[in-house]
Amino acid sequence: MTQRHYLTDSFVTRFEATIVESLDHEGRHAVILDATYFYPTGGGQPNDTGTINGIPVLDVLTRPHDLAVVHVLKSALPTGPAHAEVNWRRRFDHMQQHTGQHILTQAFVTTVNAATVGFHLSPDTVTIDLDNAVDISQIQQAERLANEVVFSGLAVTAREIPRGELEGVRIRRIPEHVTGDTLRVISVGDFDHTACGGTHVANSGQIGLIKVIRADRKAGKTRIEFRCGTRALEDYSQRLDITQALTSQLSTGLAELAESVTRLQDDLKAQQRQRNTLAGELLHYKVAELLSSAETRGDTRIVTFADDSYSVAEMRQLAKQLTEQPGVVALLGIPGDRSNVLVMASAGSAVDARAVLDAALGVLGGRGGGSSAMAQGGGVPADIDSLRRALSAAVDSITS
Ligand SMILES: [Zn+2]
Repeated sequence: MTQRHYLTDSFVTRFEATIVESLDHEGRHAVILDATYFYPTGGGQPNDTGTINGIPVLDVLTRPHDLAVVHVLKSALPTGPAHAEVNWRRRFDHMQQHTGQHILTQAFVTTVNAATVGFHLSPDTVTIDLDNAVDISQIQQAERLANEVVFSGLAVTAREIPRGELEGVRIRRIPEHVTGDTLRVISVGDFDHTACGGTHVANSGQIGLIKVIRADRKAGKTRIEFRCGTRALEDYSQRLDITQALTSQLSTGLAELAESVTRLQDDLKAQQRQRNTLAGELLHYKVAELLSSAETRGDTRIVTFADDSYSVAEMRQLAKQLTEQPGVVALLGIPGDRSNVLVMASAGSAVDARAVLDAALGVLGGRGGGSSAMAQGGGVPADIDSLRRALSAAVDSITS
């Protein structure tokens, strides 16, 4: 079994050891050291990375049958002496998040009697799951207490306590999977005592800050997302960048930002309503204009119109209003990278909209379909001239 030195000192990042086994782990190169400071994935804390004799360590895990620590490497290394370096940035980040989690968990117990039933730590997020539905003011209460513990600079210590001597030690929770004669207990001053095999800071002040950034309540539970230390700082910087961009764009202060956005949304809605009213009125005139210039063939009035300022929905609305009149066939087009052709015929018309569309697509290209009353197609790039040529060919296909 590998000696796990990170249990006694989580601040050592360069060390000498001996590679006692060089192996293939599930198709990847790996080594086992006689002693290691590399933390293997476990207890909700991800593995360390780093190098051994200059070779990158990609993953670290515990081999189940003998509890040896397996270091998965980018390339093979022989047995013999090893110089190893742990990626301190990643390790210290895990120490900050993990110790912060101990404190926040205990803070929720102390303030609102909510127990942590889940913990997740990844490069992107840190969360705990509480067995209670807690509200914003309760979260703020717990967060305040957690940060008081951080600012108090309490010593964080690890002790191996024999099972027989556990009575009287106020341990928050003993994980069920932990067996063995002794229990490793992590204490944050006298604020929290937790059985844990992870890596922790030496003083609560090294966490810097614990900030809850999100809470999701679901089925009587609450998922609390938070950031500690450097992650909290990075989160603050990111939010500052965003709010500075917004306050500058809106020429407003941070305190007035939400109000400014609400006002902007209200303005936009009012303008949209006004635009819809005007568009409706304009459409009315457009229908009259197009009908007056329609080409008459027997009992049929043929309207052709192409314009790139219309949306498909607007063109459809125009076609609908045109064909509310009896005996109208509307051939409408929108040029662009994905051009559109719409053919609609009044109820009872002898003209088949599909056949007219096919004639247009014969010139334009593209595909489409529909019913005898309405057909739509296109999808190919077309400028206004080629679209007009296609509509003209379609008009020619209509027999009187
Ligand atoms: Zn821990």
